[in-house]
Amino acid sequence: MREPVYYSGSAEFFDTHAHIYDRKYADCNTAVEDILRRCRASGVTSLLIPADSEETSRLAVEMASEYDGFEGISIYASCGVHPHEAKTYTADTEEYLISCLEARKENRVRALGEIGLDYYYDLSERSVQRNVFERQLELAKEYDIPFILHERDATGDCLDILRRFYREGRLRDIPGVCHCCSCSPEASQELVKMGFYIGFDGPLTFKNNKKTPEVALITPWDRIVIETDSPYLTPEPNRGLINEPCHVAYVCAKLAEIKGVTIDEAAQITYDNGKKLYGVN
Ligand SMILES: [Zn+2]
Repeated sequence: MREPVYYSGSAEFFDTHAHIYDRKYADCNTAVEDILRRCRASGVTSLLIPADSEETSRLAVEMASEYDGFEGISIYASCGVHPHEAKTYTADTEEYLISCLEARKENRVRALGEIGLDYYYDLSERSVQRNVFERQLELAKEYDIPFILHERDATGDCLDILRRFYREGRLRDIPGVCHCCSCSPEASQELVKMGFYIGFDGPLTFKNNKKTPEVALITPWDRIVIETDSPYLTPEPNRGLINEPCHVAYVCAKLAEIKGVTIDEAAQITYDNGKKLYGVN
């Protein structure tokens, strides 16, 4: 198999989105400790583990507390139910999410998510997705916590719901992050106006992708964060291999190229933005 290439410069990175509990790692005999060692060796010193269901919320929360500080890496978690899993959302799920949010001074939970709409896969009925999205938006408001937005092929409905919350004053100053942003330049600008950060990952580096670099170019620096969405969406030059947080440097390098700054500058800005987004020091 092809060997991955690793970043070896001196910049420090915040991978704001990496599912390091994913089954894919166990399937290829990759231990979490090894992922974290490679991550630290490539300059990643902060990491957030996002969830997509009650089950993965539990995994993310457990892993963040177990591994926080490993190799000197600050590790945080989110809890929440992804639109794919909206059909599994019950009163018990909501109770569990509330218990995580209420304990966030003691646990490492710093965001709610992933939440949103996905009409590309349609793995849950659309009306159910919208309902579960809105319920979790209410939670984000009530517990004053940023959320991680997942949106695919559902920009119209997604913006309708967010606009309504925004108009009614029910979005925080920093509502959260549009993760793995795949929407149009216009939609991304509207999200920025509502206070969102925009998250960029592997697709920014894909040669056939013209839209995402355009979005990166017009997004103001103070609203950009970088992520890997590991184990998916591996950036060039490692595309095709399993993704790990250590590859976030290549997303940062591409962003620096698009914006005309050095990788160190892009790393510093996105690091500070990541901390501000999730309210960490
Ligand atoms: Zn994700």
